[in-house]
Amino acid sequence: MSSIRILSDRVANQIAAGEVIERPAAVVKELVENSLDAGATRIEVEFRTGGRAYIRVEDNGAGMDRNDAQLALERHATSKIAEAADLDRLSTFGFRGEALPSIASVSRFELQTRTAASEVGTEIAVNGGRLLHVRDCGRPVGTRIVVAQLFNSVPARRKFLKSDATESAHIIHCVRLYALACPQAAFTLIEDERPIFRSPQCTSTAERVAEIFGRQIAESLLVVDLEEAGLRLRGLVGRPGVGRATRHEMITFVNQRPVDSRTLSYALIESYHEAIPKGRYPLAFLFLDLDPAAVDVNVHPAKREVRFRNEVQVRALVIRAVLESLREFSRVAMVAPVGAPPGDRLAAIPAAPAAGAAPESRIAAPFPAFRPALPRGSGAPDGPVISSRDPAPAPVPGPDSAPRSPAGWRYLGVAHGAYVLFETEAGVVLLDRRAAHERIWFERLREQFAAGLVGTQRLLLPVPVELDAIASALLLDRLAFLGDHGWEVVEFGRHFFRVEGVPEWMDPADAEPFLRDLLGAWRDGRLATKDLDLARDELARLAAARAVRMPEGAGEAAMLALAAQLFACRQPLTSPAGRPTCLELSHGELARRFQK
Ligand code: ADP
Ligand code: MG
Repeated sequence: MSSIRILSDRVANQIAAGEVIERPAAVVKELVENSLDAGATRIEVEFRTGGRAYIRVEDNGAGMDRNDAQLALERHATSKIAEAADLDRLSTFGFRGEALPSIASVSRFELQTRTAASEVGTEIAVNGGRLLHVRDCGRPVGTRIVVAQLFNSVPARRKFLKSDATESAHIIHCVRLYALACPQAAFTLIEDERPIFRSPQCTSTAERVAEIFGRQIAESLLVVDLEEAGLRLRGLVGRPGVGRATRHEMITFVNQRPVDSRTLSYALIESYHEAIPKGRYPLAFLFLDLDPAAVDVNVHPAKREVRFRNEVQVRALVIRAVLESLREFSRVAMVAPVGAPPGDRLAAIPAAPAAGAAPESRIAAPFPAFRPALPRGSGAPDGPVISSRDPAPAPVPGPDSAPRSPAGWRYLGVAHGAYVLFETEAGVVLLDRRAAHERIWFERLREQFAAGLVGTQRLLLPVPVELDAIASALLLDRLAFLGDHGWEVVEFGRHFFRVEGVPEWMDPADAEPFLRDLLGAWRDGRLATKDLDLARDELARLAAARAVRMPEGAGEAAMLALAAQLFACRQPLTSPAGRPTCLELSHGELARRFQK
């Protein structure tokens, strides 16, 4: 083995770059943070091809003189802290003095900067960590940094980059975070010569949210503001009932720094326990301010994670503050309902033809859930129903432990409105109503999708939907796919869309939230339309989860019909999400449990 050596700065920088600069968005993050630290009130970010080819960040901050500019490219050169204890008083985004040298070591890097005290600016060019030149340049006060050919010299890293669209989504998200964190600065973001957003200086977070996420979202938010024992939580959260399928819109900041904090997100999710259905995520833009000494930001190289000295206190504050806003809203809403009343889903949907109508009508309105509810106790079927024309459910062979065809099952009752108990030849079966319904819907929808038979209900009042830049790009790409599956969505302005028709199975009131869910799934890559079958499965899964509404009435006939329909499915034993639909306790199992 060779002897120990100190690494050259160039190599050390490239290694550090591996930690700090994992992708183009990380470059943007570091540069924007530097601009904000330099007191900029105007920041412009431009990038091309997901940031690989070109990133430019330009600000009107304090700038650097020649000496500082050269120092800034040295390892561990920072103007922000002098000793470790300063970390506890940190009021800037940066402090490690690693970003600029790291970025310059893995790109073609050009810095132009000028302070107010100097007539001329300084330009420094570096390629892959090697200095190319330092010279005078003309420029306004402030700093402009261009990072080109990122990772060209580090092929291993290049390989880890995702598609341009993904890298671009990360950059957009990143700039948005800082725009939210600092509404007092004007932000411009340009991708491939197309402006993604231009937000002037704003006086409030609410204004900024409206600027970059759209007025529609901004108007559905509640103000949170609570201060307690030196901690302050402020920001905006979604109204009760406003949930998202993904965590993308749960955005948290600690002392202005965008962070991922388990403590904060769990507390937030918990606060919405009763306000949105399980498995959905709240919408939130929350800012926690506390003594810098009470939080450790130096846990992760990219500083995205933080640790609180007093997790319990932070958690309690979040829950209290959010619950207070939610309750206050509900109190006010009780007096004067805001938005659409939680109307009866059935009332909003045209009644399907009565039994006995011409057979074609079954294609137009195949989902019996649309039938007006019959009075309780009339034996009205519960949700999907087998009409007299439906073929008798074929017995489904299953593994030995699985319950078989429901022929001959005896209905015993329903527990908690959710579980149906049957006596069977082999023992007893417990059926989860919701899971069963989801399975039935899922298979019907999938069949319809495959057969191209999805009808559209035209909406009398089109539903306007305003999206952010990423979501609207996704949607534009997929209008045809949606069109093939019962949607009529038209673009009618930048980031504005109008839903003019929805699939027949859908409650029009669900149009907007469902569309947002779909976009969330697309963003997560769960609905890649490249593989049509998979995309349809996912669409059917999301749709089934949404479509199921369980009528309260649960008579014997309805429950037997439900079981029969479930077992007519191809995969009756699990819900589309993979949860069991039913449990069987065999005679043997019962005897064992009772120790007979
Ligand atoms: P850090 O931000 O951790 O100090 P960086 O490598 O990001 O380290 O930057 C090094 C130094 O360069 C900063 O401390 C700051 O003094 C200076 N600097 C970087 N970017 C700018 C900018 N946009 N305007 C003014 N000064 C800057
Ligand atoms: Mg920095």
